[in-house]
Amino acid sequence: MQTDFSPTSLVDPQVKTSEKIIRSCVHCGFCTATCPTYVLLGNELDSPRGRIYLIKNMLERNEKPTPEVVQHLDRCLSCLSCMTTCPSGVNYMHLIDHARSHIEKNYRRPLADRVLRSVLGVVIPNAKIFELLVQLGTPFRRPLLWFASATRSKRLASMIRLLPQSTPRRSLMTRGATKPSQVSRGRVALLTGCAQRVLRPEINDAAANLLTRNGFEVIPSTAGCCGALVHHLGHENDAATAARRNIDAWIAEIEGSGLEAIIITASGCGTVVKDYHHILRDDLLYLEKARRVTRIVYDISEFIDKIGLIFTNQNTVSNLRVAYHSACSLQHGQKVNDAPKRILTAAGFSVKDVPEGHLCCGSAGTYNILQPKIADRLKARKVANIESTGSDVVATGNIGCITHLSTTLSVPIVHTVELLNWAAGGEIPNELKVKP
Ligand code: SF4
Ligand code: SF4
Repeated sequence: MQTDFSPTSLVDPQVKTSEKIIRSCVHCGFCTATCPTYVLLGNELDSPRGRIYLIKNMLERNEKPTPEVVQHLDRCLSCLSCMTTCPSGVNYMHLIDHARSHIEKNYRRPLADRVLRSVLGVVIPNAKIFELLVQLGTPFRRPLLWFASATRSKRLASMIRLLPQSTPRRSLMTRGATKPSQVSRGRVALLTGCAQRVLRPEINDAAANLLTRNGFEVIPSTAGCCGALVHHLGHENDAATAARRNIDAWIAEIEGSGLEAIIITASGCGTVVKDYHHILRDDLLYLEKARRVTRIVYDISEFIDKIGLIFTNQNTVSNLRVAYHSACSLQHGQKVNDAPKRILTAAGFSVKDVPEGHLCCGSAGTYNILQPKIADRLKARKVANIESTGSDVVATGNIGCITHLSTTLSVPIVHTVELLNWAAGGEIPNELKVKP
């Protein structure tokens, strides 16, 4: 795509990087067919190619974006399906990230939007505040949903629906390291995350149990939010601060007792942590440290695939049909698609592919709260596709998909590692326990 940036604007390294990305697009349009918003809305401006044009015009003129441009860019899920499809290797992720931060700096959103986005950016990454609100709100889930429906607030209803049905217990991982009873195969850090550890503490506990039983010392990485949420809201300084804080904590561990790996169980977080070296590309103090850290970051499914496991409960689990829902952040963001299915199959499960598996379920960080109408349509489509497989349970690698889809699915949805832990001799996932 031809560009017309002024030489002075190209002095800014971020603009220069984006200009290079825009020029790599040959506007072939292959990406439109796999873009969820284009598939639903059929508008070129809600396709990757249309958005690249909008971003090009916005950045070239360095003008305040118009409400129309903001609307089309806000509708992007950052699912990165377009990056998987694109034959020219256009790095749409870095381009939309730049566009989002440009909008945050140059566009004044309506008051209600500003308040909501600020609240989300403060509450969700702060596990203590988030946990308190979940503990307080869960017992009142029904009346709160009634209130949201009476006031016709779709956004409030989307937020309330994310509350669990019953008050979650505390994660065992927050109490400290878990050590293997026999010889250690190494020491790994487990990012405990913010929303996940509050909403489904069983996920990190299953990962820690599985790794500990297989000879790894697991230390909880509690330096705080990885920055993914604020990054997607366009708050690039907050994301960089979160990245530096986590890098400091991990480098201290690497240089202290040593670390084999940094394990992440929420793929939305993993995609951003693996990109820390890009977020901190202009920070000479941190760039090398970021590269050092990201070299040992693994999604839990990647790590298990790498170390190999012995599954002792294969007979118990072998009749279970598992629909594998591949989270966008894992399949498109991290290009990890086959490993989870391979290890679930090796564990003895009968794994089913979900039709239209490349299309986002509509969760996408805070998208289901900020764009509830599109998110609900994508959820309905995903649920129908999952249920067409006739599976007994759904496995996925991202807490956002789990909370989003569980409100509508007629079968349980769990994290992949919960099933693997069970198949390898650990506890059966809560969702699969027969209720008395
Ligand atoms: S597939 Fe790639 S090159 Fe083609 S229009 Fe989409 S982003 Fe551009
Ligand atoms: S990231 Fe997803 S929603 Fe956004 S343009 Fe690409 S395919 Fe479409």
